[in-house]
Amino acid sequence: MRTSVLLHPRPEGLYCPPGDFFIDPVRPVNRALITHGHSDHARSGHRSVLATQQTLDIMGLRYGEDFAGTTQAARLGETIALDGVSVSFHPAGHVLGSAQIAVEHQGTRIVASGDYKRQRDATCAPFEPIPCDVFITEATFGLPVFRHPPDTEEIARLLKSAAQFPERSHLVGAYALGKAQRVMRLLRDAGYDRPLYIHGALAKLSEYYQSQGIDLGTLEPATVESGGKDDFAGAIVVGPPSAFADRWARRFPDPISCFASGWMRIRQRAKQGGVELPLIISDHADWDELTATIKETGAEEVWVTHGREEALVRWCELEGIVAKPLHLVGYEDEGD
Ligand SMILES: [Zn+2]
Repeated sequence: MRTSVLLHPRPEGLYCPPGDFFIDPVRPVNRALITHGHSDHARSGHRSVLATQQTLDIMGLRYGEDFAGTTQAARLGETIALDGVSVSFHPAGHVLGSAQIAVEHQGTRIVASGDYKRQRDATCAPFEPIPCDVFITEATFGLPVFRHPPDTEEIARLLKSAAQFPERSHLVGAYALGKAQRVMRLLRDAGYDRPLYIHGALAKLSEYYQSQGIDLGTLEPATVESGGKDDFAGAIVVGPPSAFADRWARRFPDPISCFASGWMRIRQRAKQGGVELPLIISDHADWDELTATIKETGAEEVWVTHGREEALVRWCELEGIVAKPLHLVGYEDEGD
């Protein structure tokens, strides 16, 4: 069957006519399949939602338990029939609960990967390449200039700075779902065993990660009540990037501003944001990961969603792979 008959973009999101469902719709729909809990992919108000249990849990934490009419949990690797279309969820390595969604009908298989990365991440299951006819890929960092260094090196730079300036605090900006917990886990893996101080916006999700067996060590609230300025001397404080512009950030002694994001590869971007210690830690595939993954899936056709589509489409064409941008709107990842 023609692949665009099985899945094609509509204003609400990617739509599967024979199965009558959307993947990561940006508007409320009858039946939504959701790849992961970031707010641009997982929205509230759908009549029914099919996602991994962890993604459903995360949506419940963020939007309240009534975020959808009904919910169904998909086990990784299990095939579910929706009006004759087979769908299955497979790990994407992006954040806890994240999954690629394989859609199969009359011998054609399309894999919508959502957001993904290939770097090892102790806070979620690793990406599994799924052989397919069409691979739908993001392209957040779809330019050859984007090559993420090992995350352990970035964390080592943070710890070195903390040791060098024991009287100052280090404020680490990290997205509330995924990045923050990954940074904390990396600090633990590097042997840092002092309490980590977290902004209130990270509390529920970090607690959920711990409940899922991801050990983040001792977390303390970074509030005035928990201590005076001096108590934060030498502390590492983690909070959402948005918190660093407001009064909350001023309570810490002589803070060093850090930001964990793939965008920190761009020096100018770090400078403009007033980031003194940029940490290049991304939950998205870099250029090498994108191109290696496309090859691994064996897909003859690639559809490129949000990000810098053109370079990746061009690369596919040079490799003899049919490729096109999907021009989906509404995805500006909160977890880059
Ligand atoms: Zn995401």
